[in-house]
Amino acid sequence: MKYALISVWDKTDLEKLCNKIVNLGYGLIATSSTAKYLREYGFKVKETSEITGFSELIGGRVKTLHPKIFAGILARRDNPKDIEDLEKESIPVINIVVCNLYPFQQVIKKENVTLEEALENIDIGGVSLLRAAAKNFPHVLVVPSPKYYEEVIDYLEKGGDDIEFRRKMAIRAFSLTSIYDNIISGYLAQNLEENIALYLTKKLDLRYGENPQQKAGFYMLDDEDPPFIQYQGKELSYNNLLDTDSAWNLIKEFNEPTVAIIKHNNPCGVASDNDTLRAFIKAFEGDPVSAYGGIIACNFEVGEDLAKEVIKHFFEVIVAPSYKEEALKIFSQKKNLRVLRYREDILENPFEIRSLRRGFLIQTFNRILFDNHEVKTSHKPTEKDIEELIFALKVVKHVKSNAIVVSKEKQTLGIGAGQMNRVNSVKIALEQAGEKAKGAYLASDAFFPFPDSIEIAAKYGIKAIIQPGGSIRDNEVIEAAERHGIILVMISSRHFRH
Ligand code: 5GP
Repeated sequence: MKYALISVWDKTDLEKLCNKIVNLGYGLIATSSTAKYLREYGFKVKETSEITGFSELIGGRVKTLHPKIFAGILARRDNPKDIEDLEKESIPVINIVVCNLYPFQQVIKKENVTLEEALENIDIGGVSLLRAAAKNFPHVLVVPSPKYYEEVIDYLEKGGDDIEFRRKMAIRAFSLTSIYDNIISGYLAQNLEENIALYLTKKLDLRYGENPQQKAGFYMLDDEDPPFIQYQGKELSYNNLLDTDSAWNLIKEFNEPTVAIIKHNNPCGVASDNDTLRAFIKAFEGDPVSAYGGIIACNFEVGEDLAKEVIKHFFEVIVAPSYKEEALKIFSQKKNLRVLRYREDILENPFEIRSLRRGFLIQTFNRILFDNHEVKTSHKPTEKDIEELIFALKVVKHVKSNAIVVSKEKQTLGIGAGQMNRVNSVKIALEQAGEKAKGAYLASDAFFPFPDSIEIAAKYGIKAIIQPGGSIRDNEVIEAAERHGIILVMISSRHFRH
């Protein structure tokens, strides 16, 4: 005889599911109120107390927590020794566990709930049943909520031998019990620090957050080491970490030696050059005013010549994959400069999380530059033009929207960031580039809604533009570029950064 163990708080639709289970020849075992409910529907049910030989103990706190129940769930069906044990002790083989938990989350939401009432509603036996059944999913089906009954009925009708389905249900059960425990720990925590510390480990005490009136820390999920190593300099601040991470993400776009200088989470100067010192000088000269107090990121080993150039100016942080000994020696003259090595051997987060007032937004990272591109004008780009446009596009991907980058010879000349309309970003970028915009390249993070930006670009002498299409006025935009002799390349991906 094979059994299904039923122990549910929420009894919704239970009779429908049990009908199917019984029709397939299973015997039912249930905890007391669940058994009572099922009997009212005419089911024949064995109570867990009949199996364990104990009436439910200590006011129902111990109902199913017994070897005769758990061995019946956990036994490996293909292990003769396990089966022998079951037979010797007359333990029923339990192949299905239907269980849902005490509604702890609802109880703690009630006004004036006492600690005693909350504790009484922490399900122990139910969680154990779910975890045991989920662990033994190769043999056992776990059903942790009425919302899966339809799918389970379907599975049973198809013969009930689909291990992939049981694996899926096991995943659901484990994530449910882990969330359940998180809610309990969150409730018991007395304050935010204690609460966060339950999920995450604090790796760095930060003096404050974005502003001195905000508290902050750097946390990681487990016992990993931080993704960077600090060689010298003042302690890192919240803003340093945020900007350093942006800088690193930007620099990772490039294969050739590249330097980025970041201010307030936006690049202010980026340049690529096979000569690493020149790459730095070009990045700096892209916007020397904004570079003051910025964060430098390099995607190459930093040597002596670059270090000498860096210490002529005031920077908050430099980050690179490695440093020559001599470079570190030179940096040591600037006691405050934070010198970081970013570790490449770390596992990156699988996704990006931002918090709302309550709840979180989760998305995958923006790893793609573009899949397809198409030249929309009769003016065609050379290979070099395309390379220059891609340089500008790689930078614009890391600028707050609405984002415009003007560049030439793989050096940014003007960056328009974070404007609420695109044409203003165009004006800012071009104004900053000034005379140097002649023959330069322009990239936009999203489509131009109107041709006005193209008219302005033409006045400054822009040679080629790269932008994602998709505007209802794409034709007007293309026509304006055509008329002004500007090369227009459209790509398939846009790069909003809000
Ligand atoms: P019933 O209403 O059938 O008496 O109990 C069902 C509830 O008891 C389910 O929510 C289940 O998670 C929970 N449960 C199962 N085993 C145990 C146990 O050993 N102790 C306690 N306190 N609850 C259990």
